[in-house]
Amino acid sequence: MLNIVIFGAPGSGKGTQSTKISEKYALEHISTGDMLRAEIKANTEFGKKANSYISKGHLIPDEVMIDKLDDLMKKKNGVKGFIFDGFPRTIAQGKALDEMLEKYDEKVTVVLSLEVEEDELVDRILKRGEISGRSDDNRETVEARLNVYHNQTEPLKNYYSEQFKLVRIPGQGTIDEVFESISTVLDRIIG
Ligand code: AMP
Repeated sequence: MLNIVIFGAPGSGKGTQSTKISEKYALEHISTGDMLRAEIKANTEFGKKANSYISKGHLIPDEVMIDKLDDLMKKKNGVKGFIFDGFPRTIAQGKALDEMLEKYDEKVTVVLSLEVEEDELVDRILKRGEISGRSDDNRETVEARLNVYHNQTEPLKNYYSEQFKLVRIPGQGTIDEVFESISTVLDRIIG
């Protein structure tokens, strides 16, 4: 299996690139953010609880997210691989993902880190906020999300680079340029 983690700050283009990767390489796209937004839209109890974290730019607690990811993966049998978008976001989630994949005799193949400068991230998120209707795409929440990213998520870069799995992708070009860089890396891995 080809198991990809797509990694990056909020606004780095993870969702957009994941959709393109999942189409080209026939991988199962697992987006924890999309799953949470679907729960919010359906107004479930879980969705309401999740939104109280999301709208503040905070992370949902690890135990909750790890259980949800386990559920999502159990439902997907016989796939060629996964693209994990928005998970893991903490070292604890990274370790949990390794354990989950191990149960299937699998592992993370590669981690694609989308590198985008902070000013550009803020611009992109505020622009997206004008159309997305997301409770977290506004100036107040952006700052909290970037802090959470630096403090809780970014340490994962070290976690994966120690395993020689981290590949940095320049994320500031056009959608197609970024996808081209990603494809080059993935084609090399597939051989
Ligand atoms: P995203 O669409 O990936 O940017 O996620 C939007 C928001 O959902 C994040 O800012 C978090 O509040 C929450 N979220 C998504 N994925 C996770 C995760 N793996 N762990 C904790 N919170 C998450």
